[in-house]
Amino acid sequence: MKCTQCGCKKFIKTSFSHLINVGGWDVRCYISETVNVFACLGCGHLEFFDKEMPNKLAQAEMTFKKCDDELNSLMQEKNSQDNTIKELTEKQKRIEEELKNLDITVREQNELTEKHKQINNEIDDLVYKKRNIDRIIEQATKNREKANAEVQKLRSLCIEED
Ligand SMILES: [Zn+2]
Repeated sequence: MKCTQCGCKKFIKTSFSHLINVGGWDVRCYISETVNVFACLGCGHLEFFDKEMPNKLAQAEMTFKKCDDELNSLMQEKNSQDNTIKELTEKQKRIEEELKNLDITVREQNELTEKHKQINNEIDDLVYKKRNIDRIIEQATKNREKANAEVQKLRSLCIEED
């Protein structure tokens, strides 16, 4: 560690509570236990360190990444459901075309009608699941926004000098 003011490398460890003198009727001062204070032996400049701050930012960034990944995978799931519904709808249309064919037997006709009904059920199932996933996506979007706001807030507190 080097003093940012005079360049001296010798420091003495002190604590925040040694530096302040609190009086009055109802004055309360809370100091985080994670804060360390060092005084430069050369010029008395004080350096404050709080290891929890970088942890907070790293944690916020990790939370954001998790929320972002979650939302992406939900969107993928939704897309794949959309595609399946589209495929099934096309399949139904083909069956409807086949049913118009006057040359098919009654047996074939029954089979096709049954198949059409089955696909209908599959589509209903997917539409129901989709409604569910839309709700989950809505919540995941909110979570992601909240996590992002926290990261932005902490990043805005960061100062970087050349
Ligand atoms: Zn100094």
